[in-house]
Amino acid sequence: MLDKPENKLDPSLLARFAAIVGDKYAITDPAAQAPYLVELRGLFQGHSPVVLRPSSVEEVSKILQLANDTATPIVPQGGNTGLVGGQIPLHNEIVLSLNRLDRIREVDATSNTLTCEAGVTLQRAREAAAAADRLYPQLLPSEGTCTIGGNLSTNAGGTAAIAHGIARSHALGIEVVLADGRVLNALNKLKKDNTGYDLKNLFIGAEGTLGIITAAVLRLVPRPLSVETAFAGVPSSEAALELLNIATDRTAGGVTSFEIMTRAGIELVLQYGSGCRDPLAAPHPWYVLMELSSQQREGLREVMEDVLAQGLEKGLMLDAAIADSIEQGKAFWRIRELFSEVQRHAGGSIKEDISVPVAAVPAFIREANAAVTALIPGCRPVPFGHLGDGNIHYNVSQPIGADKAEFLARWGDVNEVVFAVVKKYGGSISAEHGVGVIKRDILPSVKDPVALDLMRSLKRLLDPKGILNPGKVL
Ligand code: FAD
Ligand code: ZN
Repeated sequence: MLDKPENKLDPSLLARFAAIVGDKYAITDPAAQAPYLVELRGLFQGHSPVVLRPSSVEEVSKILQLANDTATPIVPQGGNTGLVGGQIPLHNEIVLSLNRLDRIREVDATSNTLTCEAGVTLQRAREAAAAADRLYPQLLPSEGTCTIGGNLSTNAGGTAAIAHGIARSHALGIEVVLADGRVLNALNKLKKDNTGYDLKNLFIGAEGTLGIITAAVLRLVPRPLSVETAFAGVPSSEAALELLNIATDRTAGGVTSFEIMTRAGIELVLQYGSGCRDPLAAPHPWYVLMELSSQQREGLREVMEDVLAQGLEKGLMLDAAIADSIEQGKAFWRIRELFSEVQRHAGGSIKEDISVPVAAVPAFIREANAAVTALIPGCRPVPFGHLGDGNIHYNVSQPIGADKAEFLARWGDVNEVVFAVVKKYGGSISAEHGVGVIKRDILPSVKDPVALDLMRSLKRLLDPKGILNPGKVL
C-alpha cells in the first residue's frame, strides 16, 4: 500500500513550511520521522518530506495557506492510533502533527464544558474533567495516546457510548482551520443554537478531509458516585442481549458499558496477556463485561446482584464475578482491552468494525460465522465488542498452520461475505473506526449514491485543490 516518493518537495518550499514552525519542529530526519509514518499494527507504512509540528492555530493557518497556494497535500495526525490508515502519508504528503496543540484552555464546571486544543490526549481531558469533579464520558482503550482532535475527526465510539453516545454527541463547539487557512470559530458552549446549518458536524467524522480541527468545547457530565463491574459467562450472544435488556430495564440508563467476548479470544488473553487470570472457575462460550453507574452512593451493588440473579434464573447467565475492589474491576477491564491486541499471536487477523441494529447482533454473528468458515475452512472468527451499540469488532484469525500472507490476501473476500450479512440487516461497514483507506474503495458499493454525491460536492467546496488528506474516505 505504498507509493514511491516520486513527488519530492521543492527544497525552497520545504524551507518556507519549516520557517512557519521553526526548524526544530520541521522533522526531516528519517529516524525522527519514523513514528509518524507507520501505523500501530504495521499495516500501513508511509513516507513524507517533512513532519510539521505547529504549536498554535495561527501556525496551522499559515501552513494551510501556503499548502493551498502551492497545492501541497497535507495529512493531519493526532495520536496515530487510528485503525483505518487515515493518518498515514501514503503518497509522500506533509504530515501535520497536532500534538503540540496541547493546552486545556478552560474547564467550566457550571456550564459543564471543557475547552481544549486538538492535541490534548483523551486521558488528559478526562483527568482535567475529573479534577473539576466532572466526567468526560468518552472512553477508548487508546486514551493515553489518542487525541481529542483525532477522536472528533474519527467520530470515535468506545466503551461508554452505550450510555453517553459517540464523539459527535460530546462536542458543543469546534475551531477548524479550513483548506485555505481561514479559521472557522465555532467554539461555543451552547446546548441550543439554531442559527442555520450545523457546520460543526461536517468536520466531525470527516477524518481530516474537510478541515483541521484545532480546538473543541466538550460537554461534561456529573461523575458517578458509584460504579459496579461484573464479568459474566453466558451461553450465547442471544442470552447476552437478553441480559442487557434486564440491566437496562432495571437501571434506566445506568448501564455504562456492556461488552461481549468469545471464549476463544479470552483464551488468547489468558495465554499472552501478562498477569491476566480467568475471572471465572469454568470456561463459558461467551462473556459479558458489564458496568453499571449511579448517582446514588448506596445500593448499586444490590442492583447488579439482582440483574445477575435474574439472568441466572432465566438461564441467560452461567456464572459471574462482581469486582470487589477497584483493582479487580481494572483486571476485568484489562482482559477486554487486550482482547484485540493478543489476536496477533494467533497469526493473521482480518478485522472488521461493523454495526447492525442491536436486536440483529446474534443473527449477524451466526450468519457471518457460517459465511467466513464456508469461504475459508478452518478460519477462526473472534467477534467481540460493544453489544449495546450493535457494534461488533468482527475479527477472523487464520486457520491454524495456514500461511499468514495468503490468509491476509483474502481480506477483500472476507469483506464481501461479511458485508453481505451487514447489508441484509441494514447495518454499516464502519461503525466507529472510519473509512480511511481501508474501506475507501468499498464505500461506493454500500453508500447511498445521492449521499456519496453530496459528500463529493462538499469536498470540492471545502477543499477545491484537494490538499486535505487526499485519497482518504473518498
Ligand atoms: P489519528 O490516528 O492520528 O488520526 C485519525 C484520523 O483523524 C486520520 O484520518 C487523521 O488524518 C485525522 N485527524 C487526526 N487529528 C485531526 C485533527 N486535529 N483535525 C483533522 N483531522 C485529524 N476507536 C473507537 O472508535 N473506539 C474504540 O473503542 C477504539 N479502541 C481502540 C483501541 C486501541 C488499542 C487502539 C490502538 C485504537 C482504538 N480505536 C478505537 C481507534 C483510535 O484510537 C480512534 O480512531 C481515535 O479516535 C484516533 O485518535 P488519534 O488522535 O490517534 O487520531
Ligand atoms: Zn471498539
